[in-house]
Amino acid sequence: MPRVYNFSAGPATLPVEVLEKAQKDLVDYQGTGMSVMEMSHRSPEYKAIFDGAIDKLRSLMSVPENYKILFLHGGASAQFGMVPLNLFSDIKKADYINTGAWSKKAIAEAKRYGDVNVLASSEDKTFSYIPTITKDMFDPEADYVHITTNNTIYGTTFPELPDVGKVPLVADMSSNILAQVYDVSKFGIIYAGAQKNIGPAGVAIVIVREDLVGNELDICPRMFNYKTHVDNGSMFNTPPTYAIYMAGLVFEWLTERGGVAEMQKINEEKAGWLYDYIDNSSLFSGTADRVSRSKMNVPFVTTSEELDAKFIKESALIGLKTLKGHRSVGGMRASIYNAMPPEGVKTLVDFMKDFELKNK
Ligand SMILES: *Cc1c(COP(=O)(O)O)cnc(C)c1O
Repeated sequence: MPRVYNFSAGPATLPVEVLEKAQKDLVDYQGTGMSVMEMSHRSPEYKAIFDGAIDKLRSLMSVPENYKILFLHGGASAQFGMVPLNLFSDIKKADYINTGAWSKKAIAEAKRYGDVNVLASSEDKTFSYIPTITKDMFDPEADYVHITTNNTIYGTTFPELPDVGKVPLVADMSSNILAQVYDVSKFGIIYAGAQKNIGPAGVAIVIVREDLVGNELDICPRMFNYKTHVDNGSMFNTPPTYAIYMAGLVFEWLTERGGVAEMQKINEEKAGWLYDYIDNSSLFSGTADRVSRSKMNVPFVTTSEELDAKFIKESALIGLKTLKGHRSVGGMRASIYNAMPPEGVKTLVDFMKDFELKNK
């Protein structure tokens, strides 16, 4: 079986070069006689892998010195709880912007610990747009503001970051971290589950500004305290060693290809081909608002559910896999993260053209 083009939203496709490198080193990692999976997380060999991954990520995202990078368990979902448990002060107030299912989950979790003000939402139109946000909407007293930079299910992205003044901006960047250039210094915390645009499932990346560490609520469990992980270099307990190793290989792959700015160019091009075709098609249409549509997740529909089903079935037959939309929205969704080769998007657009001709 040749490799397919896998448009899964996550866990998602990985660069084939990375998989091949991991395969080569799977049984005997560079003459150590053991797999990375089998290594003590405190061994010098593993420490080199771990430190290398941190250094590469710091350099790829130009993470300033006053930010810590953590590799944690629990996915992005654990951060829905960790953020309020660590950032709420005595007043326990936070502003959230509700742009989708993941934002809603983050909101529900934060509400367990304090007052959450949802200052804008796009739920009225099935989260197909990013609400307009102005500076005066934010509470200057809030402990933090939370956004989801890219909404994986609905295919929307904040066209620009909101101006939150001095309040720390916290971002769930699970589905577009490393896909476009962000100025890390604009954020208090960035977090992301790895399985969308970084590596295999099992590790979450947290980039946290130093002054936000060490102010946790009394009830905060030790494993949920950023300070625990900062003080122990993400090794308070056994970290997800293999997932971190794989993420490190992806960071290396990105670095070799010119880094995030170069990826952003390629991603704009890839998404451009797909949107240009959809915008001019009489059979397909995009479901997200144009100004806020995502370059990572492209949801679209045909004119009927029957044709959607036919499209999903026939595309899979030629190796275009996992194009079914999220169960909550239906239709199709092409996730075209960094690791999706331009060829994959071209093949998809060609197939769509062909499908349109045959199903007019
Ligand atoms: C997938 C996803 C999550 C959930 O990630 P887990 O690692 O499974 O907890 C959260 N937020 C966004 C934006 C996502 O795309």
